[in-house]
Amino acid sequence: MKVSNNILEAIEKSPLVKLNKLEGVKASIYAKCEYLNPGGSAFDRAALKVLQKAAQTGRLREGMTVVIARGGSYAVSFAMACAVLKYKLMVVTDDKDGAGVVNLLSTMGAELVRVRQHEGGVRHFAIQYVHEDGHKDRLYIDEAEYDTCVASILDEIVDTLPKVDAIFVPMIHEDTTKALPHKFTGKLMRVTRPKDINYPRAPTAVPDLATQEELGCDSECIVSDEDAYAFSRWLSAHEGLMVGASSGAALKAAVEWAKYQPAETTIAVLCIDGIRNYLDHFVDNAWIKEYRLRHVELNGEKPKPNETYDPAVLKYDPTTLAGDWEKDDKGHWSKCSYTFKPYRNERPGVMGNVLDAVGNTPLVRLNTVPAMHGVEAQIFVKCEYMNSGGSIKDRIACRMVELAETAGILKPGMTIIEPTSGNTGIGLALAAAVKGYKCIIVMPEKMSKEKALAIEALGATIIRTPNDAAFDSPLSHIGVSLRLQSEIPGSIVLDQYRNMGNPMAHYEQTAEEILDAMDDKIDYVIVGTGTGGSATGIAMKIKERIPTCQIVGVDPEGSILADPTQTDTHFYEVEGVGYDFVPGVLKWNVIDIWQKSTDRESFETARALIQHEGLLVGGSTGSNAYAAIQVAKGLPKDKRIVVVAPDGVRNYLTKFLSDDWMFIRGYHL
Ligand code: PMP
Repeated sequence: MKVSNNILEAIEKSPLVKLNKLEGVKASIYAKCEYLNPGGSAFDRAALKVLQKAAQTGRLREGMTVVIARGGSYAVSFAMACAVLKYKLMVVTDDKDGAGVVNLLSTMGAELVRVRQHEGGVRHFAIQYVHEDGHKDRLYIDEAEYDTCVASILDEIVDTLPKVDAIFVPMIHEDTTKALPHKFTGKLMRVTRPKDINYPRAPTAVPDLATQEELGCDSECIVSDEDAYAFSRWLSAHEGLMVGASSGAALKAAVEWAKYQPAETTIAVLCIDGIRNYLDHFVDNAWIKEYRLRHVELNGEKPKPNETYDPAVLKYDPTTLAGDWEKDDKGHWSKCSYTFKPYRNERPGVMGNVLDAVGNTPLVRLNTVPAMHGVEAQIFVKCEYMNSGGSIKDRIACRMVELAETAGILKPGMTIIEPTSGNTGIGLALAAAVKGYKCIIVMPEKMSKEKALAIEALGATIIRTPNDAAFDSPLSHIGVSLRLQSEIPGSIVLDQYRNMGNPMAHYEQTAEEILDAMDDKIDYVIVGTGTGGSATGIAMKIKERIPTCQIVGVDPEGSILADPTQTDTHFYEVEGVGYDFVPGVLKWNVIDIWQKSTDRESFETARALIQHEGLLVGGSTGSNAYAAIQVAKGLPKDKRIVVVAPDGVRNYLTKFLSDDWMFIRGYHL
């Protein structure tokens, strides 16, 4: 995959993922995972196409404000496209969107107009607002323009799968799927929600899913909200498909229909968006309980380690590597304990499960932020938030699970336990959901609620530990994991601090992708360090191919990774980076330059990337990008710098994406 000139170029074929855990269904069902687009939904394509068309026809000119009459994922996609194409955006919407979406939209620079009640609805209000007030610098974009985009997704499905008998499409707009000009000749099923209920209550008043006959004759399926939520959650927890409610509804309808179809039938289902916008909605157990949605499966009891334990279980040294990782004088891997996997240069179009959608992430050029700092050198961002679980750690989770399975130490029915700052937890919960393992994630209190919600959505159990517990304390995330492992039969800690699968995943794949996209022309790679697995794996491969390339490790103030002789550790807000010990997987001497980062610079830079580049990145990306800017200052135009973006906004919607959160800490917006 080559470098993208901006994030909009990374909107492309989304994966078709097979469902594997359905009972009573012989037909094959594939989820078209539009939520894996860079803005998180199918609307990314719509926003891009609609804005490009409006610009081509002269309706939309530089400096104008685009006005849309819809919130949620639709608005986020338009905000991303407007950030890149440099239009202003006004989002006129009702007050249904939760704090997460509102924070994201405002961080992206969109102006939000909330309409509580308006005769004729939100759309009517927006049109009036634009036309009747005679604003020449505002362009209203109608939702119906989305239809052409749905048609293009359907064509993509038909072109990718060898045969398709039916496609299920959640009806987004009244006219969607009516008169769609596409080449599909099979059954097109429109999936809707019952009209006569009060959102989001009254599940008992909802009619049942339409019967097979009804579906067959009018190709319209009605799925209740409760069924939609229940099935969305089932899909996350059992297939690792972190889909939103309309996708849950469409997949539910597809499954009910499929029960009556023969084995050779192939069904595709359009999954519009993911769980990001529903974290404070049906993804949250508290919300499900509040609305008394009794049919939604909730996670089981949390295990608690015993208060009395054998201190010997804590005898563990995370500073040593489990295995060998050494080269001889000739550069051959003389002492590597494992065999490397071959490089995969692109994602397959059709996938056996969602773990295939880990890796092959886009590498995107920065166009605005470096210039704001007077930087001339070229900076590129490796968008790891586009992995199927949302972070770079999905890669190591898959690799550690594979290695353990191959070694025979991880077997069906077992429980994976892991101490983590969250993203490895999400990755392991994802792998466990797909492969059918139980999973317990232990993470410090500091880590965001959003990460915990994603972990629970994937069916894993989460345990929180105090922030200030030192790594070797029985109360720390590491201590609690070890104690649980000693008490739960058939459990295993894969251990990202010592596991070779961690650096190997990046040596084999992440670094190769970077080299491939950059045609082996890179001067600096900037990478944050938590376990140090990313830095080590990427550095080892890149140094092999480009010995002059400098590796810059980024470490937050308050951590000792940059200078292990120092003992002063203190609290910092950025998640996922820094430690009070040097993990075994970190080969300290592969880092040429260490840069310390602060919370302020990290969050302010992350927000700048979101607002000016449309990159929906997390806080540690801000640390890395800030370090990159420092390194780049004074370098000439032809120097090329790669920055790793480990995770994305989904993890921090109510933290640094909130203006209040930033303001309270004295940071600039
Ligand atoms: N940023 C974030 C957000 C992370 O979760 C992690 C992983 N802990 C990192 C950076 C650092 O990655 P690594 O553990 O490979 O050093």
